[in-house]
Amino acid sequence: GELKPEDFDILSRLGEGAAGTVRQVLHRPSGIVMAKKSITADPDTAIQRQILRELAFLRACVSPYIVSFYGAFLDEEDTTIAICMEYCEAGSLEDIYKKCKELGAVIGEGVLGKLAIAVLKGLVYLHQQKKIHRDIKPSNILMTRSGEIKLCDFGVSGELINSLAQTFTGTKYYMAPERIQGAPYAVQSDIWSLGLTIIEVAQNRPALPPPGYSQLAIFELLDFIVHQPIEELPDDRSAELRDFVRVCLTKDPAKRPGPAMMLNHAFIQKWENTNVDLGKFVRQLYDWPE
Ligand code: ADP
Ligand code: MG
Repeated sequence: GELKPEDFDILSRLGEGAAGTVRQVLHRPSGIVMAKKSITADPDTAIQRQILRELAFLRACVSPYIVSFYGAFLDEEDTTIAICMEYCEAGSLEDIYKKCKELGAVIGEGVLGKLAIAVLKGLVYLHQQKKIHRDIKPSNILMTRSGEIKLCDFGVSGELINSLAQTFTGTKYYMAPERIQGAPYAVQSDIWSLGLTIIEVAQNRPALPPPGYSQLAIFELLDFIVHQPIEELPDDRSAELRDFVRVCLTKDPAKRPGPAMMLNHAFIQKWENTNVDLGKFVRQLYDWPE
């Protein structure tokens, strides 16, 4: 059935982003625990209706690599748009690498390999649905309790993208060079962002701003992305992984492969047929019982 604002109990707060707040909620009628994202709504009711119509497309997005969607509605006296999705207990890759950092641990290549595979397959799926993600970064890649890796927060509603753009103050660290130069979004732009994401998760810190440049003004940062080489992974990582990241960070979008092509890369081939127990990785990270 339809989701209604009054049918939810708030259980906890999961996080806060530029666009809104995410809470863990209980949907009482179904007994399902969900993640509810609340985004400040444009006051124009025609725009609100358009956004909800476009978000309904998420129902048709069914893939093991995409966070499931339960529904969207106007909430909090029509001041916010609520998007209800699958609750992923292990949190985002940002939560995960920060936890690793706390523990003084480094994420191994098997986990990075499975992560790259899941993101690429998620992007291939979205591409088949004629969608581009547009916001690949560690906080938009989630892990379930059993270790499944799934994409969330992709650009499904043009109207929502417009309305967020007007208030957008978030980071532009993951933006591909061609986007900075005003080219339209293409699947290759998501691959650039994947390269930055893998560096960040592998190193327990963002790739940008580059080390030693923490005071970059926004113009300088954007100029750096367009003109300067992004750091390479250190040589204690495999040649395959280092090359994978290098290919993702090809400046020229015409020379940067899309997700389907990236699945043929040696790093992916290496991990595609190797078992990695991601459930165990998550249990050990959070000290959860078997
Ligand atoms: P951003 O992605 O820009 O950091 P969001 O508001 O999208 O901001 O998400 C903030 C945080 O909320 C994420 O980093 C993650 O920890 C948490 N989160 C978002 N969606 C879910 C979900 N479906 N399940 C569990 N945690 C989530
Ligand atoms: Mg997000």
